[in-house]
This record gives sequence, structure tokens and C-alpha cells, in this order.
Amino acid sequence: LGLDRYVVIGNPIAHSKSPLIHGNFAVQTAQQMDYRHLLAPLDGFFDAVQDFRQAGGKGANVTVPFKLEAFALATELTPRAQAAGAVNTLKFDGERILGDNTDGIGLVADIVRNAGASLAGKRVLLLGAGGAARGVILPLLAELPAQLMIANRTLSKAEALADMAHHGNVAACEFSMLSGQFDVIINATSASIQDEVPPVPAGIFAAGSLAYDMMYGSKPTSFLRFASSHGATPRDGLGMLVEQAAEAFHLWRGVRPLTQQVFADLRKAMEAQ
Ligand code: NDP
Repeated sequence: LGLDRYVVIGNPIAHSKSPLIHGNFAVQTAQQMDYRHLLAPLDGFFDAVQDFRQAGGKGANVTVPFKLEAFALATELTPRAQAAGAVNTLKFDGERILGDNTDGIGLVADIVRNAGASLAGKRVLLLGAGGAARGVILPLLAELPAQLMIANRTLSKAEALADMAHHGNVAACEFSMLSGQFDVIINATSASIQDEVPPVPAGIFAAGSLAYDMMYGSKPTSFLRFASSHGATPRDGLGMLVEQAAEAFHLWRGVRPLTQQVFADLRKAMEAQ
């Protein structure tokens, strides 16, 4: 009958570590499945998904730049995908296409479980108001922080996210208006891709703050170096990547893989680069 088939769809996609991560999960949990890269043309996401479904595909992870199209394609959405307005995980079941978003829960799992930092009662600062920021708001609020401040270069976008959250503990501001220290500072801007640092006051960091950058790589980002130099503990987004994958795997297969070993393997491979 063959193996159940899954893919990660994006453009570009060859760099994606998802096949490695899901391959590890499958071996670990003895699941009979096959997981590969699928490069979709920039104007060909829908067709790529339909072809894959027709060929018996069971599910897909979706990455840049197709998360909004995946949202539009889903016939059913989980509440967190609905809130995120974007889908990173699709599950195919006959005519049904379930859309989920596991990025936010992946971030929270990495912060709470792996980094051991509680969010309950804490002052949390989210930098950025793009797709990644929007996807993490609901899962962050579920941890009951005392405050969730959203700061963004374009204030109106931060305000729109805060309005959407419709929650008394959520507020929005510009980077320059930030004041006081935060327990957890999450960089969900794409500034790190250009090796830039959002222009935040250094006083937002305190000794013992957790500074989290969603970006990951072989070297700490400028944001993490800046945060460390002001006493914060740095953490990059590699754990978020692995944890969002574990959530997707659980949605598809009904089993929860362990994440520690694949995280350590990826880190080692990255440092060797
Ligand atoms: P978007 O393009 O949707 O949003 C970009 C955000 O960054 C906007 O808020 C934008 O501000 C801000 N920004 C861009 N450049 C700068 C700059 N130079 N200084 C300050 N702010 C800036 O991107 P995404 O939300 O999709 O992605 C953000 C990051 O999250 C990426 O680095 C991505 O790789 C990472 N990510 C990591 C994941 C993981 O698993 N680890 C999962 C998902 C995302 P403005 O509104 O003013 O334009």
C-alpha cells in the first residue's frame, strides 16, 4: 500500500530542515511515513496541493510565502489558525482540508518547556506585527501574562493586532515609546534577516530577562548579541521550529514525538557549518 506521504511546501524550500525533523520523529515513533520537500511555483500553490492530494498525500507543512494561501485553501480551521490568519499545517482527509497553525504553540512550548521560563504573570514584549507575530498572540495569552506589549516599526499594524486580540492585558506602541523592563522579549520582526536590530531602548532588558529571536542560524543574531550585552539570556528560534513540527506531527499521526535529540542534532549540524 505504500507509506503515508507528507511534504513541506514553500518557495524556496531546499533549505528547509522539516524533512530531517519529521524523518527523526517517524523513526522514533515507528510511524510508516514519507516526508519530503515540495517546491511550488510562486503562482502555483493551489495546483501543487491539489496534485499532491490526488496522489494520496495525507498532509503538508506550509512555509514562506504560502501561509496565507494555505489559510484560504483550508475547508476547516482550528481556532488558533483562525486567530493567526495563516496556516502552516494542512491535514487532508477525503474532501476535507484541515488548516492549523502550530507556530505559536511551538514558540510557547520552547519558552516554557525547553527554556524553563514561565510566562504566567510576566511582562511580555512582542516585537513585530507581521505574520509571525500575529500567529503567536493567542498561544502567548493562553499562558496568562500580566502584560503583552506589541511594539512595531509601523504603529498602526501593532495597534491592529492589539485590537484583534481584544484583551485587557494587550497594548501596542512604537519601539521608541517602550519603557520599563520586560521579563520576556520576543523578536518576531524580520530585521535579523538583514542583521539589523529593531531600535528598542536597552532598558527593556534586565538581568534574567529571556530574549527570544524567532530567527535561527549558526551565529547569534545582532538582536541576541544586543540583548545579551544588557544582561538578558538569549535564545534563538531553532526550538520553535522543532516544536511547531512536533505539534504538526501530533495532529497528523496522533502521537507526540520527543524533541530534545533532534534539536541537539540540528544545533550541532548548524554549528559545524
Ligand atoms: P513579515 O514580513 O510578515 O513581518 C515582518 C515584521 O518585521 C514587520 O512587523 C516589520 O515591520 C518588521 N521589520 C522588518 N524589517 C525591520 C527592521 N529593519 N526593523 C524593525 N522591524 C522590521 O514576516 P514574518 O512575520 O513572517 O516573519 C518574521 C520572522 O520570524 C522571520 O525572521 C522568520 O524567519 C521568523 N519565523 C520563525 C519561525 C520559527 O519556526 N523559528 C516561524 C515563523 C517565522 P513593519 O510592519 O513596520 O513593516
